[in-house]
Order: sequence, then structure tokens, then C-alpha cells
Amino acid sequence: MKRFDIFTLVPEAFAWFVDQHPVSTAISSGAAAIHVHNLREYGLPPHHEVDDTPYGGGPGMVTRVDVVAAALEDVFGESATRVRETRDVYVLAPGGRPFDHDLSLELSLSGRDLVLLCGRFEGFDARVEALLATGSISIGPYVLAGGEVAALAVVEAVVRHFPGSLGNTDSMLEESFSEGLQGMVEYPHYTRPREFAGVEVPAVLVSGDHAAITRWRRANARPSPWERGASGHPPTNTGGSDRNEAK
Ligand code: SAH
Repeated sequence: MKRFDIFTLVPEAFAWFVDQHPVSTAISSGAAAIHVHNLREYGLPPHHEVDDTPYGGGPGMVTRVDVVAAALEDVFGESATRVRETRDVYVLAPGGRPFDHDLSLELSLSGRDLVLLCGRFEGFDARVEALLATGSISIGPYVLAGGEVAALAVVEAVVRHFPGSLGNTDSMLEESFSEGLQGMVEYPHYTRPREFAGVEVPAVLVSGDHAAITRWRRANARPSPWERGASGHPPTNTGGSDRNEAK
């Protein structure tokens, strides 16, 4: 069982998420437990203040380290600086470690529970990461208004690696970025109807020739657009007519 603890000022952001597959399945099978904590509850009197103006001046508000520490201590029942000794504790931050297939797998296999700290406004006081966290995670080179969307992405990608979480384990072996596809992006899929707006499903897929289908799929997996040195944007999918045809 892997336990996820998410600290946020927007706990509502996670309501639908725990009811959707694969997270709901992981929870009901006992593989995962998700606990969402409202940082506001640990804010300072009189108005549950969680943030303050930045030292040195400038716009925005910074979430206080003492508030985060109080939340961690209350939830885990130990000194806030010790929580990371037995758990993976990550701040969501635009400048964190890029979240990719490898990191999602690493977190899934770590054997430690995962704690995610979602910022808002200007983010956390720097001492949150330095003293209380294992590190920080970024879901991409852009700035969101809060860490909630990032936390949803992280938890969902981690849970998808749990054995049985997808119902069909085969769908995991040949997923985009997996070893089964040598880190490449999955080949295209088609279903009925066989022809739509003049575009037909590639003939090999309806041939019944499994070896040929496997060859076609290998030939039509493409390099990850996220790889360093990749040319940039993925090609526009024009309906498959520009795909390689395996002989
Ligand atoms: N002032 C910060 C941005 C704060 S954005 C800066 O310039 O770096 C507010 C919060 O949104 C952050 O604390 C973080 O938790 C979250 N966030 C924003 N973009 C993110 C990203 N790309 N990945 C992960 N978290 C992000």
C-alpha cells in the first residue's frame, strides 16, 4: 500500500480524482490511500493566515514555512524535519526536477509513501524545500497558478504503474515512453468505423496477420518529442497517411 498525502489550499481540486479510475481502483483494492489536507487549517490566528509578504519586497505572497511544518507535524505525529527521513516529500514548483516517465516509475517503486506540497501565489518560503522536503518536482516549463494540477498529474502517473491498476497489464508494457517501446511514443490506434471522411484504417491492421501488425506497430512508434535534442514539436497527425508502412 502506498499512501499519498497532498497538502493544498484547494482540497476541492481532488474530489473528482479519487473517484476516477485508475486512482479509485487503486484505493478500493488497497494499493493506494489518498489523504488531502487543507493548509488553511494550520494558518495563524486570527484569520488562518498561511502566507506573508516576501522579505526584500516585491509583489505576491509567500507561504510560510512554520505553517507547513505545523501541518506536517499534525498529520504525521513527528517533528516536521523528520517526515522526509521515511517518506518522499516533494514541493511542486516550476523549477523542480522535470517530471517524466522515469521519475513517475521511480516514485512508484520507491517503497516510501509520497507527500506532495502544493503552492499558491508566489509559492513556498525556500526553507520548505530546504528543511522539510526531499526535493521539488516540475510538470513542465510554464507557470501554473497552483500546485494542484501538478499533483494530480504526479499521482495519476505514479498510480498507473501499480500492477493491475490498468486492468490489462499488457497495456502498460507497450505504453508511450516505456521500455517495451524503447522510450518511444506509442503507435497510433484505430477502431470502428473502418473508413471515416475518406480516411481508411491502415490495411495491415485488418489483415489478421499478427506478425505484420507487430512490424507495423514497431515501425510506427515514434521518437519522444520530449527527448533532449528532439526537433521540437510532434508532427501533426494527418490521419495516418504519412505514417511509415512496414513491408
Ligand atoms: N513565483 C513562482 C511561481 C509560483 S506559481 C516562480 O516564478 O517560480 C504557484 C505555485 O504553482 C507554485 O508554488 C507551485 O506549487 C505551482 N506550480 C506552478 N507551475 C508549476 C509547474 N510547472 N510544475 C509544478 N508546480 C507548479
